[in-house]
Amino acid sequence: MNLPRIRFAHLPTPIEPLPRLSAALGGVRLLVKRDDQTGLAFGGNKTRKLEFVLAEALANGARTLVTVGAAQSNHCRQTAALAARYGLGCILVLSGEPPVERSGNLLLDGLFGAEVAWCRPEERGAALKAAFDRAWEEGRRPYLIPLGASNATGAAAYVAAFDEMLEQMGSHLPDWIVLASSSGGTQAGLALGAALRKFNGRVLGISVDHAAHDLQETVAHLARETAGRMDLPVALRPEDVLVNDEYLGGGYGVFGEAEREAVQLFARTEGLLLDPVYTARAAAGLLGLARAGLFQAGESVLFWHTGGTPALFAEAYQRDLQPPEPA
Ligand SMILES: *Cc1c(COP(=O)(O)O)cnc(C)c1O
Repeated sequence: MNLPRIRFAHLPTPIEPLPRLSAALGGVRLLVKRDDQTGLAFGGNKTRKLEFVLAEALANGARTLVTVGAAQSNHCRQTAALAARYGLGCILVLSGEPPVERSGNLLLDGLFGAEVAWCRPEERGAALKAAFDRAWEEGRRPYLIPLGASNATGAAAYVAAFDEMLEQMGSHLPDWIVLASSSGGTQAGLALGAALRKFNGRVLGISVDHAAHDLQETVAHLARETAGRMDLPVALRPEDVLVNDEYLGGGYGVFGEAEREAVQLFARTEGLLLDPVYTARAAAGLLGLARAGLFQAGESVLFWHTGGTPALFAEAYQRDLQPPEPA
């Protein structure tokens, strides 16, 4: 690992068996990689990426982190916490309507002292540029972190994370790694790590919000950029990237029946929390594919938990998450 990195994540994150959930599914051996426990303000996959991004930002003289996301962005929450921890300013460009009362991740953004600029979803790029330019003119030395910290620098963290998993699993490597995939950096890093180490299993991204074809392109492109940055002799093509887009449900952030079933099943069999946007959808995919017989009997499946649990407390999901009425 030849890239600058500032270490603040709690690593390695545990890998735990999920025996009761495995029994409920019959036949597969399920495990979970707890990247919801990376340690920075409720953790998540962005914490790993930010170790590399922060190193680059500070090397560039940054004094203010500027990034972008949805109102309940986990990436923005972790960036805001990081900025506070390193004494940097933080400007978040969030798409959507400002709510009357803040909740979930957005509540935490405020606790960390991040400034929020609201914009319409289709104006996100322009609003981000405007926020950056303004901070620059004000002499605040802004540093731009892209959506989901999904650039070559951020994705490099998941090449390292793949090695971390290899070391933890020793000779008991999983047959499958299943994860939620959206801006693609996490999957790009894991897929690159897998190719680099000639991993025999498969890395399957459950798309949260993009058509499989588009996400495969994005992930392969990012993986090639990351390989270039890290000087790795691996080039992934889109067809090397495994994506399933059959679980897009009602679209980004829409909590449906499949997500509800996944959240309840993980909670009730293992006492394990998923988030409503990403891991609930990925877990719904995992359950659906297991029931459809994708995984062979005796195979082991590592569910890579990418975090996001503060969104469970977002106002928008409170009604959806109420337990069913007793009959
Ligand atoms: C951002 C995020 C993802 C998606 O990761 P990408 O690298 O953007 O594909 C998955 N799960 C959670 C909880 C996230 O916050």
